[in-house]
Amino acid sequence: MSIPAVIAKPPDRPHNLRDYETTRATFSWEDAAVRLMRFPDGRINIATEALDRHADGERAQQRAIRFLDRNLRPRDFTYAQLRAAANRFANLLAGLEIRRGERVATLLGRIPELYMTAFGALKAGAVCLPLFSAFGPEPLHARLDISGARVLVTTDRLYKRKVAVIRERLPQLRYVLLVREDGGDLPANTLDLQTLLDRASEHFATTPMQGEELALLHFTSGTTGKPKGVMHVHAAVVAHEVTARFALDLQDDDIYWCTADPGWVTGTSYGIIAPLVCGVSMIVDEEEFDAERWYAILANENVSIWYTAPTAIRMLMKAGLDLVRKHSYPKLRFLASVGEPLNPEGVMFGMRAFDKPFHDNWWQTETGGIMIANYAAMDIRPGSMGKPIPGIEASIIRKRDDTVDELPPNEVGELALKPGWPSMFRGYLNDEARYKKCFVGGWYLTGDLARRDADGYFWFVGRADDVIKSSGHLISPFEVESSLMMHPAVAQAGVIGVPDPIMGEVVKAFVELKPGFEAGEALNKAIMATARKLLGVAVAPREIAFATELPRTRSGKIMRRLLKARELGLPEGDLSTLESGA
Ligand code: ATP
Ligand code: MG
Repeated sequence: MSIPAVIAKPPDRPHNLRDYETTRATFSWEDAAVRLMRFPDGRINIATEALDRHADGERAQQRAIRFLDRNLRPRDFTYAQLRAAANRFANLLAGLEIRRGERVATLLGRIPELYMTAFGALKAGAVCLPLFSAFGPEPLHARLDISGARVLVTTDRLYKRKVAVIRERLPQLRYVLLVREDGGDLPANTLDLQTLLDRASEHFATTPMQGEELALLHFTSGTTGKPKGVMHVHAAVVAHEVTARFALDLQDDDIYWCTADPGWVTGTSYGIIAPLVCGVSMIVDEEEFDAERWYAILANENVSIWYTAPTAIRMLMKAGLDLVRKHSYPKLRFLASVGEPLNPEGVMFGMRAFDKPFHDNWWQTETGGIMIANYAAMDIRPGSMGKPIPGIEASIIRKRDDTVDELPPNEVGELALKPGWPSMFRGYLNDEARYKKCFVGGWYLTGDLARRDADGYFWFVGRADDVIKSSGHLISPFEVESSLMMHPAVAQAGVIGVPDPIMGEVVKAFVELKPGFEAGEALNKAIMATARKLLGVAVAPREIAFATELPRTRSGKIMRRLLKARELGLPEGDLSTLESGA
């Protein structure tokens, strides 16, 4: 199957966003906020929008979340049950005298306790900090310390392995509540979560918050350097709802699966909050990636909307199409991806496997929600991130001292957004200077380079730090990687610029092969020939190296900075989020 320039969409589907231009022209965040806010005086709480209003209404007995354990055994929670569980945790916090604005961290797998504590903390007016359960002691210490967490909810097993050794260095951490996996004696200085929950009432009046009060803390993925702590407020829920309806097309009867872990912003904004605000039923899988398991879940759980990431899509591609064919997916209607550029090959894999394209969308921890997307009712141009969400003004700019110039179509510049949407971050933890530096001439600068075509589609070029400058040309690592992936042997590729005395920089590619292909000179030449044919000699890699595994962040992004540091023998920098390829 070759890659078409446009994948056209039938015009007549009842999608949430049917007419992009008209919706864009008439949309306002004020209207969207008024539609949501449940407290009469304009105050708001994310947990009210996600739980209370459903638990008090028609959806009370509808399934909110189905958890799948290791053996794919389901454990279901209705909206009413999830609210009751969250209320118990909110009461528990009140009993511990945790005050509004204090931080409650979670270090848990994707188990029910994670979801009930997140909502319980929000209900109590505390700030929620979800941490990824695979972090080791030092990254955990850094995050708990800088955020000043008062409470940590984790399991006895994770506590013993990772937290006990850093506990002394966390003077602000007053309470550690444990989910008991191992049983036995309770470690010193900890509390048994279940015992406290059993004693707590399942009735709780959710704290009405000001829209600008802090709700969530999230650390960035650490792809370009040391992870930054990003602050989000309760008003963000307005953007969570709007973006999930527009970009993910969430509708009443959908069964939705977001594969991201809540330790990353996608797993919170679209894996905890937005789906419940929209009142859908979601699937949470406690296990990690496994191609066969994932296809079984999509089929057996009747998933209708699936939100995943390029790294997973590439792993599915690597696993081959035979596995997909073991099931059928009559309910699956919309596929979306975020986190890294989605190569055209990835979009088309959706067509091959499910007869539906993947819809790429773009956003960052800082933006709190999806900003640019391919919509269900809009034609896709494979390789493009799509168009800005109604209510979001995006542009391609070039910085000039304290001002910016907006660039015409097809010129590459920095992707910038007009501040003011509700899920916009309100600061970096302990780094006001860095936060201020993001804003120039009335724009928020994203640090990503992109271009916009004449029809308003945005195309990702690379992170500002990763773009390669060779003989005066700007080369997009994304474009080179996408071309390398057109070769049938290539599973994924990471491309960097290597200093060169004549050209400035030359392109070097690292490729990971699909199973069944043998690294060697002949294959190297063949891949090089494909790249030259598609890209031209000036842009194609000068050198291709085979890698067993490319270094990736735990959120699944290729760490080009690490490929580069290793290539040049430079210090490797902060590796707290390195997953694999070490
Ligand atoms: P750090 O800021 O610590 O270096 P990070 O930028 O990877 O890490 P995130 O906030 O998780 O942290 O990721 C946002 C970034 O991911 C975006 O700025 C962009 O570079 C990349 N990204 C996300 N979605 C897409 C997409 N659809 N296409 C291209 N790039 C994307
Ligand atoms: Mg970033």
